[in-house]
Amino acid sequence: MTLTIPFDNSYARLPNSFYARQAPVPVRAPQLIAFNSDLAAILRVSPGEVQDMAEAFAGNTLPEGAEPIAQLYSGHQFGNYNPQLGDGRAVLLGETVGTDGVRRDIQLKGSGPTPFSRQGDGRAWLGPVLREYVVSEAMHALGIPTTRALAAVETGEIVLREGPMPGAVLTRVARSHLRVGTFQVFAARGQLDSLRRLTEYAIERHYPQADGPMGLLRAVVQVQSELIAAWMSVGFIHGVMNTDNCSIAGETIDYGPCAFMDSYHPNTVYSSIDRMGRYAYSNQPDIAVWNLAQLATALIQQMEDKDAAVEEATEIIHAMPDLLQQNWLARFRAKIGLATEEDGDQQVISDLLARMAQGQADFTNTFRALGSDAARDQFADPQAFDAWSEGWHSRLEREDDPTATMSAANPAFIPRNHRVEQMIQAAVQGDYALFQRLNDVLSRPYEDQPEAVDLTHPPSEAEVVHATFCGT
Ligand code: AMP
Ligand code: MG
Repeated sequence: MTLTIPFDNSYARLPNSFYARQAPVPVRAPQLIAFNSDLAAILRVSPGEVQDMAEAFAGNTLPEGAEPIAQLYSGHQFGNYNPQLGDGRAVLLGETVGTDGVRRDIQLKGSGPTPFSRQGDGRAWLGPVLREYVVSEAMHALGIPTTRALAAVETGEIVLREGPMPGAVLTRVARSHLRVGTFQVFAARGQLDSLRRLTEYAIERHYPQADGPMGLLRAVVQVQSELIAAWMSVGFIHGVMNTDNCSIAGETIDYGPCAFMDSYHPNTVYSSIDRMGRYAYSNQPDIAVWNLAQLATALIQQMEDKDAAVEEATEIIHAMPDLLQQNWLARFRAKIGLATEEDGDQQVISDLLARMAQGQADFTNTFRALGSDAARDQFADPQAFDAWSEGWHSRLEREDDPTATMSAANPAFIPRNHRVEQMIQAAVQGDYALFQRLNDVLSRPYEDQPEAVDLTHPPSEAEVVHATFCGT
């Protein structure tokens, strides 16, 4: 049996200037580490022999119908415009239309140099590949829009990072790889025909009801507002919210130095390259607005009536903070058991968060434990929680079933950063037990799983990961 993927490619039909045709560069000795059969079924991908899949997901063989391309884009990195980025270590094999009717990209990441590699080697090492596999699948199970992981292979080659590391390739699946940066590159170059073609493509693929470029902007503002509020609600810190990592489809994309918070503090940063804290937890909503303002700027270039376009785009972007706030409030209301809306709710939530920051309370465990005695034990000063809890309980009297609301909004399991690091260290030694276990437990994050209680524990002093390195 050979691996078959029912490709139906659309991006490769767009003008040549949108990408470079680039085959993956073969590797020495591919070995299959993981294959996501649930996702494969949705994609109508039928698995083949293990070695067959290892070769295909390493890029050594091309499944029939694949048309590998490296996509062009640019973007703002940490606020500075980089006029050309592009897939420097990834190729889009093609697209499939799933059993759910959704068109998705199938991309190999770590598949060798491309015309956009600049100084890079075009490769990925095992650590970030497994991190993205576990965290993106966990995100999906949490119900948050994200790219997904179809497969991972070890290449049998060494990649040089901080030291020699085992090489790997991730097969990533996305509703598309269109980014804010995909629009920026054509706008910055004044290639208005390409910008118009791209805008039409994005509307047709993702938002068929959207009315022109400003309709597209509105739609992306909407989905990004929902996405960032969802991140905030689970304590997720993306780490590199550059405009090239901001998806037009509204998915979480590019899991680099990302992490879920353990103890709550709004200024938390994990990425070692984010020295100024630009992408700190509580900055994420503001950065999303900034990124969408860049999309607005790019989209406007193609409009006939610039003044009217600027006015409309300004109105859309100015409305985004409110939209983010509404989505945030909806998420956090549910987290404290509120299905109804009252004026004072925001204050109740903010008060809890302030006390959590003060008391170094674990973000996930505090919310999961709300309503039981275990919640107060999360606080350095449990009486600070008690004081809040009194007011909260009187608010809960006007709710029907707060427990049900909370258990659907507060996961027991998130991919804790120290566990992800332990998983990577074991895998580098050839031990994939923790990788398997994390995937299994994290696929049911809202279920109590007593046998996995160790995975709910925050790190011990010795286990704390202080910075997630970007050497991806
Ligand atoms: P990222 O930080 O993963 O979003 O990547 C930013 C840009 O750097 C993208 O254009 C990537 O394709 C490129 N890049 C990252 N790592 C490598 C690498 N090892 N080789 C070539 N290009 C890379
Ligand atoms: Mg990127």
